Amino acid sequence: MSKTTTPGLVIACIVSGLGLFISPGLSSPLLFPWVIGYLFLALRISYDAYVIPDPLKPFPFIVLGVILVNFLVQVTGGVHSSLWPVYFLYAVVVAAFSPPRRAYGMVAVILAIESANLLLTGQDVAGRWHVYAGSGLSLAGVSATASHVMHRIRSEAEEVRDAHDRLIAHAEAYNPLADTDKLESLTREHRQAANVKAASELESWFSGLVEMASDLVPAHTYALFVSERRDAGEAFTLRAVRTESPGSVLPPGAALAPHARTRINVCAEQQEVLYLTDPEETITGLDHYRSDGRGVPVRSLLLLPIVQKDRTLAVLAVDSLQADAFPRRTQDVLERLSTFFIHFSDKVQTTLELDARVRHFSALHEISRDLNESLWFGNIMKKVIPRITQLVPYDYCACVLSTEIDSVLHLQFIALEGYDDELVGVKFPLSDSAVVSFMHRHWAETGVPFFYTGDYGDRGRDIALFPFKAFQKPMRTLYGSLLVAKGTFVGAFFLASRQPNAFTKYERDSLLDTLMNQVAMVAYNSLLYQKIENMARTDGLTGLLNHRTFMEKLAEKYRELERTPRPFSLLIMDIDKFKLVNDKYGHPVGDVAIKAVAQVLRDTVRGTDFVARHGGEEFAVGMVETDIRGAELMAERVRSIMEKTMITRVHDGELRCTLSIGVVSFPEDTDKMADLVSFADEALYHAKRSGRNRVSLYRDSLKNPVQQVQS
Ligand code: GH3
Ligand code: MG
Ligand code: MG
Repeated sequence: MSKTTTPGLVIACIVSGLGLFISPGLSSPLLFPWVIGYLFLALRISYDAYVIPDPLKPFPFIVLGVILVNFLVQVTGGVHSSLWPVYFLYAVVVAAFSPPRRAYGMVAVILAIESANLLLTGQDVAGRWHVYAGSGLSLAGVSATASHVMHRIRSEAEEVRDAHDRLIAHAEAYNPLADTDKLESLTREHRQAANVKAASELESWFSGLVEMASDLVPAHTYALFVSERRDAGEAFTLRAVRTESPGSVLPPGAALAPHARTRINVCAEQQEVLYLTDPEETITGLDHYRSDGRGVPVRSLLLLPIVQKDRTLAVLAVDSLQADAFPRRTQDVLERLSTFFIHFSDKVQTTLELDARVRHFSALHEISRDLNESLWFGNIMKKVIPRITQLVPYDYCACVLSTEIDSVLHLQFIALEGYDDELVGVKFPLSDSAVVSFMHRHWAETGVPFFYTGDYGDRGRDIALFPFKAFQKPMRTLYGSLLVAKGTFVGAFFLASRQPNAFTKYERDSLLDTLMNQVAMVAYNSLLYQKIENMARTDGLTGLLNHRTFMEKLAEKYRELERTPRPFSLLIMDIDKFKLVNDKYGHPVGDVAIKAVAQVLRDTVRGTDFVARHGGEEFAVGMVETDIRGAELMAERVRSIMEKTMITRVHDGELRCTLSIGVVSFPEDTDKMADLVSFADEALYHAKRSGRNRVSLYRDSLKNPVQQVQS
């Protein structure tokens, strides 16, 4: 009933209530206005109940009933009416099924009506009023008593059930999963907003549960430990607490060690109520207090496991300083509460899981899109790796690709996160990484490319994922996967965390493993593409850059040096008397010699230099940031190593070859880059003419032109 209509109803109630009592019988002139007033009252109350049905307020209807029965009593002879016992019975029955407060209200209405009846009507026959008053009072008294007695009879358990129903109704009011139709119609944003609300209210619901329990069963401390699922086991975490000793309890969020034989863990495992009481001694070993509860003189302890489908969701710890504080009946009351907990936590769990799946699905979708965006694996990983945080929480990430150097498997860093990313591009032998070697062997034996360690403890700091100091990090969890596509090993991918058990089984099996299969396929394609590219850029016999690529690189360098001049040198070399080698030992042996020279060059030059097979048995080396002195030293080194290198055994002894090398430098010899190759050729020609197996600088070829070609 709204506030504005209440005074109107009270007036209508009084008018229709009192109008009747002027005279008994149906002849009263006020009978008609009364019936109209009563009908108005009845309609008004019914209308209000129809508009706001929840919760239905029975009191106005009870009052309507009182007035109606009273009316019938009046018209059939007042206190002498044969309906008077009906009036009496009605009042007592209604009172018995109403809470005391409502019964008192009704009694007040009855007394008001009866008093008015007595004082205002002509029914006050002399000597009769006390009979009349007596009936009224006894009616009121019996009604009130009936209500009290019935209220006592209603069990406490029923009260709990009512409270439970009310709370569930409340929970469902905002839980989107309570109503499947509603769920369908919700947009993703709405659902997420609702879920965030549900999650943030989770804690306050736990507290609400504890509050509710403590209202029903007084105790010293209530502590609710909720199980949080981790791979290492169920860790019970204190989620709600209500206590008279605030300084002694653990802070909310404190978790118990998963496998410790604490009372809570034992209770959770056995899934049985534990009740301890001791009138003499203080009970200790209480998980919810600091230092096991010493200092709090607990005499009764009740541990109540909340179990659903064989899983202990939570344990409610209740204690009291009184002995024997939780008899069987009290335990029943608390046990009933656990139903509510299960119902609620179930809904929240499902809601959160659904939400997580939606998030994972969209993250995976975005990652798939990124994976197909480019052919360069390094670029792809730069985009993909940050997105993985949407799937699992990690602190470190490393991705390596396999590459073969001199038919030895090597790994090359492609992307690093949380580690020193200066290492990207660096190569090292696979056998130097104990973890990858182990995974590789394991994969070869079992076909399983995945690896997981949930908790290294303190050892994590000592485990070097790769043979570099930068990888010594305090990791506790390590997830790894060899990247294997079409049966080929192409690399490895690692995610590590400082937290133990950072990746759940679901996250590994359903998210990471699937993702790794995709990443492996992309890595495979990328390597294949690189291989094809390399084939076009390199020389098949030696693996060095081919002539075309060398000239392209040189042109690129020209442009760079024209913008910002820096020293640059070029060596061009030619094997001496190579025709003789071919003639004497055959072309295949000649090929071996060419390969040997290539190897010497590869071993000697720096990483920044570029080496090419310039022609049949000619080679070229471009040397960045190297002046004429440096270039001459390098050329001399190559020449002298080659001279000492035994290439292969041949029928008449050992095959050795020598090199003639021409050297030219920018800007000492020329400031025109376009001249470099021809000047280097000239220097080489000078070396040949000066007797072969020697190094000639371009400037020497100008100063001492050698006329005679020696043979
Ligand atoms: P010089 O000291 O003046 O350089 O004498 P040379 O005999 O080495 O003369 P030149 O450099 O002109 O000879 C090049 C020879 O290298 C010609 C060719 O038979 C040989 N040759 C070129 N390419 C290959 C190759 O791929 N394999 C083999 N086995 N021989 C090659
Ligand atoms: Mg030649
Ligand atoms: Mg030659």
